[in-house]
Amino acid sequence: MRSYCLIAPAKINLYLEIIGSRPDGFHELVMLLQSIELSDRVYLHANGIDDIRIHCQHPEVPSQPTNLAYKAAKLMADQFPDIFANYGGMEITIDKRIPVAAGLAGGSTDAAAVLVGINLMWQLGLTQPELQELAALLGSDVPFCISGGTAIATGRGEQLDAINSPPSLFVVLAKYRNISVSTAWAYQTYRQKFGHEYIIDPDVIRSRIIEIHSSPLVNAISHKHSAKIGQLLHNDLERVVLPAYPQVEQLRNAFADAGVLGTMMSGSGPTVFALCESETHAQEVKRKVRSVIPDFELKFWITRLSSAGISVT
Ligand code: ATP
Repeated sequence: MRSYCLIAPAKINLYLEIIGSRPDGFHELVMLLQSIELSDRVYLHANGIDDIRIHCQHPEVPSQPTNLAYKAAKLMADQFPDIFANYGGMEITIDKRIPVAAGLAGGSTDAAAVLVGINLMWQLGLTQPELQELAALLGSDVPFCISGGTAIATGRGEQLDAINSPPSLFVVLAKYRNISVSTAWAYQTYRQKFGHEYIIDPDVIRSRIIEIHSSPLVNAISHKHSAKIGQLLHNDLERVVLPAYPQVEQLRNAFADAGVLGTMMSGSGPTVFALCESETHAQEVKRKVRSVIPDFELKFWITRLSSAGISVT
């Protein structure tokens, strides 16, 4: 049986609005999700035995059974028990390049890669929507990671409407090595502090979800208006993460002062990203921010917006 190498891109949130609570305990969200070129590599190799094994050098990535890539393979084995019994399990090797617990959906994209890879390896012939339905059982970001590109995400984040790509802007990402933010903490804290602002009326929630399709940011993206895209970035979770993590707030301010198109925390953070017109502009921004915050724990990446989801090399 063939081995597969999958490219699993990270994502940033160009927009994240928390609308209210859902009966399932999750938040009702309106987001604009965007793939970036920074990617993990996920290798699948059939081992012919009744076992799924995860290999990853990165010290912060958990081994099975808590690794999301393992959960994805287990889900496929449970969904297709006869095929699993026939072909056996696999070795899954993750070359981790996306920073961990960074608001960049690193675990989710590895899980998405495993679903896509097993679909090919076992010749299941599942369509992208069928794979995304399985993906939603693993986590809210996993369906988006399969298709990638640019999408409006609603519900828990698993209901997707693909939209036109923005211009292929450069992105500077920065994250303190020694700071990670729990996504669960960020959402719980938001609920405690701002739950009184939540929209309760289902009709108002529905119209807010519809409104996003004609919002200024979506218009700016479809007209490829880079400056406007930069000005209209938004993330409600900054309201809880920035006050709790002053270093992240300082980083966000340093980017804002560095002459970028726009800057924002991605997802639940603590990664802060900035959009730039060119690679030279991105390098210049990185140099400026590094000189304002000369902390060796602060790590930078320069990448680009991407229209790709999971792909096979
Ligand atoms: P998200 O934005 O999807 O909530 P994130 O990008 O903030 O997540 P991840 O890199 O996915 O963060 O890591 C979140 C937690 O998931 C980590 O603390 C880690 O222990 C766990 N995890 C499970 N599987 C993986 C994986 N394959 N890669 C990275 N982290 C993983």
